[in-house]
Amino acid sequence: MKKNKRGAIRAKALLKEIGCDSIVDIPMDILVSGLGAFLVEEPLSNSDGKIIRGNKKNIIKINSEIPYKGKKRFTIAHELGHLLLHNKLELEEHSDNDLTLNWFKSSIEQMKRGVQEWEANDFASELLMPSDLFYKKQKGKKFSPELIRNLSSFFNVSITSVAFKYFELGDCPLCLIHSHNSKVSYWKRPDDYPHFIIDRTKSKLPDDSVALEYFEKGKIYHKEHSKQPIWKSTWFKLNDWEDDRDYNFFEYCIITSSCNTVLSMVWEE
Ligand SMILES: [Zn+2]
Repeated sequence: MKKNKRGAIRAKALLKEIGCDSIVDIPMDILVSGLGAFLVEEPLSNSDGKIIRGNKKNIIKINSEIPYKGKKRFTIAHELGHLLLHNKLELEEHSDNDLTLNWFKSSIEQMKRGVQEWEANDFASELLMPSDLFYKKQKGKKFSPELIRNLSSFFNVSITSVAFKYFELGDCPLCLIHSHNSKVSYWKRPDDYPHFIIDRTKSKLPDDSVALEYFEKGKIYHKEHSKQPIWKSTWFKLNDWEDDRDYNFFEYCIITSSCNTVLSMVWEE
């Protein structure tokens, strides 16, 4: 499947139009009004953001109840993606929630869900974390939870968004496993990764995973201890001729208690 890059290309063009390497210093409401829309922040039920397109004006609404600034910015950028990429006939009033804003799901289910959400997420990711700048910021740095947190605060986006971007562009090969209510919902590994993840989709997490520690014991590691050593066999297939003790794998969990989800980043040193 050829990767659809329409969203990222449009975001790159926009950055060029406004003459900035990144939008980290530009307030989102100013960006939105500069692009011919109004930004309204108000409580929305069952939706994180929406775009209403009229003949004379466009309104982007954002749910004021979203607790994280990074998620608000991503949602606004996603709606801007619809504004700039999708014409009115396709989309008159469009509402987004966790399903459409979920970068992971939308990239995996690109074919199923239609391309518009994927393009809007791709646009948002590139607008908020321009690839060239992201690559430079992580280049030559050892992968660690701290690096991910630093990138998240530099780009002013959620740690989850950084995780997906790092998966695509980062120096260190990284596997991502998303779980919900003690079960794996989906996972991805780099195409040329030398280890095979045991497919546990819809089944229970491995007993010795850090993710399961959260679900079973409510354990959330403090920042300094968020890099946890694990066995290769925790997530990967261990071949007969291999010894678990010869590998140095780690797991860093991003926990979203409100949704009871965990995103595990797994890497080898
Ligand atoms: Zn959308």
